[in-house]
Amino acid sequence: MNKHDTPDWHARAQALVVDGRGLINGRRVDAAETFDKHSPIDGRLLGAVARGQSAEVDAAVRAARAAFDDGRWSGQAPAQRKRVLQKFSELMLGAREELALLETLDMGKPIQYSLAVDVPAAARCVAWYAEAVDKIYDEIAPTAANALALIQREPMGVIGAIVPWNYPMIMASWKIGPALAAGNSVVLKPSEKSPFTALRLAELALEAGLPEGVFNVVPGYGHEAGEALALHMDVDAIGFTGSTRVGRRMLDYAGRSNLKRVYNELGGKSAVLVFPDFDDLDRAAATIAGSMFFNQGESCNAPSRVFVHDSIADDFVARLAAQAPRYAVGDPLAADTVMGALVDEGQLRTVLGYIEAGTAEGARAVAGGRRAREASGGFFVEPTIFDGVANGMRIAREEIFGPVLSVLRFKDEADAIAQANDSSYGLQASVWTSHVDRAHRVARQLRAGTVHVNQYDEDDITVPFGGFKQSGNGRDKSLHAFDKYTELKTTWLRVETSDRSEDHRAR
Ligand code: NAD
Repeated sequence: MNKHDTPDWHARAQALVVDGRGLINGRRVDAAETFDKHSPIDGRLLGAVARGQSAEVDAAVRAARAAFDDGRWSGQAPAQRKRVLQKFSELMLGAREELALLETLDMGKPIQYSLAVDVPAAARCVAWYAEAVDKIYDEIAPTAANALALIQREPMGVIGAIVPWNYPMIMASWKIGPALAAGNSVVLKPSEKSPFTALRLAELALEAGLPEGVFNVVPGYGHEAGEALALHMDVDAIGFTGSTRVGRRMLDYAGRSNLKRVYNELGGKSAVLVFPDFDDLDRAAATIAGSMFFNQGESCNAPSRVFVHDSIADDFVARLAAQAPRYAVGDPLAADTVMGALVDEGQLRTVLGYIEAGTAEGARAVAGGRRAREASGGFFVEPTIFDGVANGMRIAREEIFGPVLSVLRFKDEADAIAQANDSSYGLQASVWTSHVDRAHRVARQLRAGTVHVNQYDEDDITVPFGGFKQSGNGRDKSLHAFDKYTELKTTWLRVETSDRSEDHRAR
């Protein structure tokens, strides 16, 4: 898009009319109550949102179950499901500007990234699972000759998807892509902080030809709609992405209800290890800062603990600090802004509280540390870098979920690995070294779902995403995501090894 084509996002935002009603059984429906949703970029009222509770969740689950049982989607051939989901993906791309604007207004990220990252990534995810689903074969077991044992995957039934606000469309697509492609019905509960794009996605899916009742969206609060969905006796699995605190509850809800499968994608405190043999420290600093401050630091895999060898630590801190001005906060609706608003005032208070805690525990801010753009009425924090952090400090142990990076030091390889693994989380990690042996040796020992080498976050839909330890148990993305939304069935057929048929006897 050249400069003259850049839309006037402010004008479009003024003209935007949002619809916060739920979408159940193919129709927009009012809930008994609503709540007001304000934008974190300037506090403007975006609209009223349905406050889904047990009744709405129950209606959505009943619609999803009926759709599943009568086979209107689950019974369609994979190639037919593929065509509908490909169309859905195309419609998402066609609605790119509308979806991007909704996402930015709802949760505060810069419009350029909503346009260039969130919408295309969500659409690609849906298309990728659509394309995969008619190319996957089941198995025949290597039994003796007197049997034919089929091992097949079947859709699981009704999937409850509960997602966070940091990448609302991408997180939703990581659930609905594989779940719908496999033939399930879905009830999606978006975050109360970012409900609008999920509702539009469900409308676009209907337009693409997805039958009514297959994809339902119930907005509402976690302790109401989320709890009702996770406790529902007729939901077969929960695909949850969110905090470790709420992930624990998901396991409890399953235990208290029908033992539904629970797939948790939870928080992180990802470690980066920078060794002195790495030959391009400027690239390392630029990549780490870019990954840390992207999405205002509100990324589960943000590289928030940076371990640097003693011999290069002062130099590397200076290089990192020099990156901070590149991530100056700005108006999220301006085309060139790279750092937007935090999602709400609560998140602002949390992040500022951690910055205070870091200073109080003896760490030293070498960049940022303050609220910014307060006059805008939005919730902005400067990109912040702490030096002199110890692994026992709260800013090194707890997930901040904001633009705060901690630099820690190590004396040798064993010390770096031990400190990196000394965390309750294990989502991602990264190693920066020019020695291939060290790269492999360290990567093997890091307890994390993904280990990056000499880069950060350059992955895509083809590889699994998920964590070790308290970062969760499931894996989103890649063909492995189908494991979460399908049941394995064995069908064992006895095969007579000699011909006892009438024809044979007659001969
Ligand atoms: P959250 O746990 O507060 O909320 C996530 C979802 O759960 C929301 O829809 C919320 O309404 C719902 N919820 C909240 N309380 C609930 C309850 N008592 N019962 C049922 N549902 C409830 O998380 P958040 O603040 O929305 O998102 C940030 C968290 O998500 C961070 O910890 C981040 O690391 C994590 N995250 C993880 C991944 C991953 O793939 N591992 C990706 C993105 C975000």
